[in-house]
Amino acid sequence: MKLKNILISTTLSLGITLPIGRLSKLDIDNYSYILEDEDITNNDLEECEGALLLVNKYNPLNDSYEPLDLKKPNIPFINNSIEEEKQMREVASNAIEELFRKAKDDGINFLATSAYRSYNTQNDIYLSRLEAKGKEYADKYVALPGKSEHQTGLSIDVTNERRNFTKKCKEAKWLASNSYKFGFILRYPKGKENITGISYEPWHIRYVGKKAAKEIFQNRITLEEYLKNKQYDLVRREIN
Ligand SMILES: [Zn+2]
Repeated sequence: MKLKNILISTTLSLGITLPIGRLSKLDIDNYSYILEDEDITNNDLEECEGALLLVNKYNPLNDSYEPLDLKKPNIPFINNSIEEEKQMREVASNAIEELFRKAKDDGINFLATSAYRSYNTQNDIYLSRLEAKGKEYADKYVALPGKSEHQTGLSIDVTNERRNFTKKCKEAKWLASNSYKFGFILRYPKGKENITGISYEPWHIRYVGKKAAKEIFQNRITLEEYLKNKQYDLVRREIN
C-alpha cells in the first residue's frame, strides 16, 4: 500500500496517539506527522491504538487524558489498593490476566499494587508526599501529574506475597524474563536511568504489545530507545 507522504493529523485528547516520539518536549495536543515508508503503517507498529504512547518528563499527558476502555482485570490486588487503580486498558487487562495465570503455573504468585492512576490521583499523591516528606523527596520518588505512565492505563506495579520485591527475588527474575511474552516490558531497567529518567523499578511493567516487547527485550533497550530507533521509518512534524 502506498502511504508515502500522506499527512495525518491527530490529537491526543481524542485518545489517539502516535507511535513515534522524538526525545524532546512535544506539543501533545495538536500535531501531525508524515509516513515516509510505504510498507510500514501505524498498525504494523502498534498492536492496539496508543500501545506505544511515550510518557516521561519530556512527554507529559494533559489533565484530560483518560483511556476510554478501562476495565478491572481478574487478578489479586493488595488490600490497600483503591478501586481506580485496579483498572487497566482492555488490551493490557487481558494480557495481565494471562501473565498472572502463566506465572502461577510456574509457581510464581504475584499481587498487583497499582495500575491506572488518573491525573487527579497522581496530583493527590504528589501533594501528600510533598507535605509529608518535603519537595526533594517528592520530586525524587513521585512523578508529577501528567508525567506518570500509570495515567495511560497500560502500566502496572506488582509485588510478591512477602511484599519485598527486589531484583534478586524469584518473582522479579520471572517478571524480567517473561513479561515480553505477554506484551509487557520492564519499563525502568537498571542502568538506563539516564534515558528513562526514573530509578530502577523491578516491579513496574508497561504494556507495549508483543511485537515491540520482544524487540525491546531482545535488544535490552528502553521504550525511548525503541521509538528513537524507529524514527527512520516515521518522521513526525509538529504543526507550525
Ligand atoms: Zn509504577
